[in-house]
Amino acid sequence: MASHRLGHLFVVSGPSGVGKGTVIARILEQISGIEKSISVTTRKPRPGEINGKDYFFTSVEEFKEMVKQGQFMEWAEFTGNLYGTPVKWVKDRLSKSIDVILEIEIQGAKQIHSQYPEACLIFISPPSIDTLEKRLKNRATESAEKLALRLSKANQEMSEKHMFQYEVLNDNLDEAVKSLADIVYSKRQVDK
Ligand code: ADP
Ligand code: 5GP
Repeated sequence: MASHRLGHLFVVSGPSGVGKGTVIARILEQISGIEKSISVTTRKPRPGEINGKDYFFTSVEEFKEMVKQGQFMEWAEFTGNLYGTPVKWVKDRLSKSIDVILEIEIQGAKQIHSQYPEACLIFISPPSIDTLEKRLKNRATESAEKLALRLSKANQEMSEKHMFQYEVLNDNLDEAVKSLADIVYSKRQVDK
């Protein structure tokens, strides 16, 4: 028989390069019954990124049309590109009692917080801005100009972490994964 409990909505934010994608990938491997929403973006794919797996890559025109049609749960502009969360997919999963993770930036997290106050907001922080810079440089996905833009944005984002219910430090990866997993399990525990 179908359960009527809605899935939990987890919002994971934090500066670019802090390790959100890395930590979430580990969570998805370790915990069942939780899925990550695939966003729509106007950013160009990085080498190795797959349409429909990492993002749904689209044009600015198509993105704006989707906004008009109310297809996004939230959307935002980040360092010159548009990003949005498909509302239908997320609501479908939640209605099937599947937990959903949104990996989104802070303006989007604010929109989710005001529309879905029950959502659990988690901020992932770096040990330092220097470490963040090293991680972004090592990832080698950004031009020097975009890297500088993402780092200056990071300072602003760090000043807004107080609006999140949880902060997870991503210094040691295993510990960060465990902290996020503990948050997921504790939310599930409340249902029992
Ligand atoms: P985000 O999704 O937040 O932009 P990524 O998950 O792409 O960040 O991680 C940025 C880079 O930092 C990647 O090269 C990743 O392998 C590395 N990284 C992530 N977590 C750690 C960690 N705890 N220690 C060292 N490097 C890490
Ligand atoms: P990237 O270009 O590094 O993939 O993503 C840049 C930023 O956009 C990251 O902070 C990422 O979490 C965020 N992002 C990805 N998808 C969405 C989305 O659907 N909505 C919002 N608001 N931010 C997103």
